[in-house]
Amino acid sequence: RKGGDGISPRPSLPGNQTRMSDCARKIKKLEEDRNVRRIKLEEKKQEKQKQINADPGNPNWAFLAMIRDFQSTLDFKPLSVNDAVHDKQINVCLRKRPLNKKEEAKKEVDVISVPARDTIIMHECKTKVDLTKYLENQNFRFDYAFDEDSSNEVVYKFTAQPLIQTIFDGGMATCFAYGQTGSGKTHTMGGNFTGKNQDCTTGIYALAARDIFKLSQKPKYKKDNFTIRASFFEIYSGKVFDLLNKKKKLRILENGDSEVVVCDLQEREVKSVEDVLYLIQTGNSVRTSGQTTANQHSSRSHAVFQIVLRTHAGGQLHGKFSFIDLAGNERGVDTMSNNRQTRLEGAEINKSLLALKECIRALARRGAHLPFRASKLTQVLRDSFIGHNSRTCMIAMISPGLSCSEHTLNTLRYANRVKELDGSGNGNG
Ligand code: ADP
Ligand code: MG
Repeated sequence: RKGGDGISPRPSLPGNQTRMSDCARKIKKLEEDRNVRRIKLEEKKQEKQKQINADPGNPNWAFLAMIRDFQSTLDFKPLSVNDAVHDKQINVCLRKRPLNKKEEAKKEVDVISVPARDTIIMHECKTKVDLTKYLENQNFRFDYAFDEDSSNEVVYKFTAQPLIQTIFDGGMATCFAYGQTGSGKTHTMGGNFTGKNQDCTTGIYALAARDIFKLSQKPKYKKDNFTIRASFFEIYSGKVFDLLNKKKKLRILENGDSEVVVCDLQEREVKSVEDVLYLIQTGNSVRTSGQTTANQHSSRSHAVFQIVLRTHAGGQLHGKFSFIDLAGNERGVDTMSNNRQTRLEGAEINKSLLALKECIRALARRGAHLPFRASKLTQVLRDSFIGHNSRTCMIAMISPGLSCSEHTLNTLRYANRVKELDGSGNGNG
């Protein structure tokens, strides 16, 4: 090529050299990062191998070995805090919790791998009639997949945080925690547990409240002077109870425009994160009072915590963020129970979770029929499923243990169905 066409023919200029070495440095850094990841993974693998070797009595030793074998073929690239957050109207994520001490002691096998930021593999452990053991590895894709090392802060960053802006823009946001009892719904929404005590400051409720107060102080919104209020109620067996008003049973009414009103629901003004935490603690203590264990009750009811922005002048609704800690999805199969009450509760939970899935799918297909009347849960959340500025995220939680496989598979399939329309209808809203 002749000179003068604006392209430097030789990379021998000093400027170019710097650019080249910049590039080379970047590549070197990437390589180094990759090596660090490899080493870490190798260490993890060796540690597990040690556990396996030290543990030949484990009845599931063969499965464990097969899973390790399979994992050694994967190149793990987990989600990193610095990864880009994508703007989505509907965001369906998966979170795997670590095995707990009890499960470790019982030599529970971890059957979940999270090889990439959007992929989960469930290693289904099967046995043929001739007793040969084999794995069926099932792949699932989600918007994000959080492994056992992800903190609540990271989960929050990729799920609820991008929706905070929505409520200031006059929209509706929802964040659902879905999954089997014991999979980590309350841990994610309410905060880390140490024993029975929960550190509420580390939950999504508190992290979101922190950002809502922060944003309300930004010059752009400070002049709006929104009143920030919160309510907290639960839905148990198709009935709604106010957790900020001694569990008062509330009536749900629908007006001529199909607008749904929860009559007499208490809405308290909140001025700080501390105010919000206080309401949550109060509500939680009311919620589970008289129950043998907190999980016994919460596994059968949906808890709905809402933060609303109202105009300072007229008190009109401007935006609303609803956080829902759903009933355990395993309860939906209690429909076979001998106990009539349990059976009815199970049927109600099943109905509401199915209706929820359909409503989120309808939200993705704008203008589609919204079957919100199918359950109390979807009825009270109606206004969050309509409108051009409604956005939602679902965090599906799974327990990693082999003994939870059936429920885990149900959760994976459900979450997958919520977002089957992937790609087309779920873009930026
Ligand atoms: P759920 O609300 O789904 O029934 P919980 O949130 O109560 O489940 O979690 C059950 C137990 O597992 C709790 O003791 C909790 O501390 C623990 N746990 C859940 N998720 C995690 C996690 N990501 N990291 C560490 N421990 C967790
Ligand atoms: Mg719970």
